[in-house]
Amino acid sequence: MLKLGPYEIHRIEEVAFPYAGYPALIPDMPAELLEEHRNILTPHQLQPETERIVLSFHSWLIRTPRHWILVDTCIGNHKIYERKELAAFSQLDTAYMARLRGAGPRPEDIDYVFCTHLHFDHCGWNTSFVDGRWQPTFPNARYLCHRKELEHWTGMQESNYEMGPNSGVFETNVEPLIDRGLLEGVEDGYEIEDGVRLRLAAGHTPGHTVLELGKDGSLGLFSGDLLHAVLQVYAPQHVTVFCNDGKAAAATRQKTLERIADRSTLLFPAHFGHPHYGRVESTASGFRFAFAPS
Ligand SMILES: [Zn+2]
Repeated sequence: MLKLGPYEIHRIEEVAFPYAGYPALIPDMPAELLEEHRNILTPHQLQPETERIVLSFHSWLIRTPRHWILVDTCIGNHKIYERKELAAFSQLDTAYMARLRGAGPRPEDIDYVFCTHLHFDHCGWNTSFVDGRWQPTFPNARYLCHRKELEHWTGMQESNYEMGPNSGVFETNVEPLIDRGLLEGVEDGYEIEDGVRLRLAAGHTPGHTVLELGKDGSLGLFSGDLLHAVLQVYAPQHVTVFCNDGKAAAATRQKTLERIADRSTLLFPAHFGHPHYGRVESTASGFRFAFAPS
């Protein structure tokens, strides 16, 4: 647990594993960049034997003086993904919920669930399979995402658009919340409480949104999939294969890094390996990432 001003920050791990190499995840990143920065990539970021990026899948749990706020809900147990590229995420059976309880709250204590976006690995624990159907895991929570994100996936669903890796996600992770009136699509600048603000950071998906903590975001930025791998701090222009609008994603990344560089703001990405968070510093040519001491 990390104490940050009046807040407690807990990381709730689901799984972590070497996922894919930089060329597969970020095809437009030149090989020389990897060589140039190899010294900063510990085995927690890049598995040496396979050269695969270690992706961690975790939630960030924030305890404010008033609320428990869960940021992103990972993949979830027993979700079925038939596509072969998602085989590693299908039918998980992890101790995620036990870890969450270990941090303090019971599921019914969670006040807000905020999904940075609605990809399968950010909204999985929104629901659990109970009594033969998908039901809200956090029955007393208000679930939040950006209105544009909700509209995007609702539109895809209604037009029977081929959703690729996100196929089946809306039905299992989102619709059960809509049916019960628990999910709210919010606007840019929405404040969960004083000092906890949501800010649109679109590109990865049309409504991708980050959470800023503290006055003017001075304490923390929970950045979802603004970045997937640490070298994107060093070269923000390079885009992963998962991004909906690569150009917009890169521009948002650059702007956000400029905003938080050399400030006290801690960056809490959704997928960085141990120690999972740190600070952004500016350099003569761009930015570097200073992982928190572990
Ligand atoms: Zn993700």
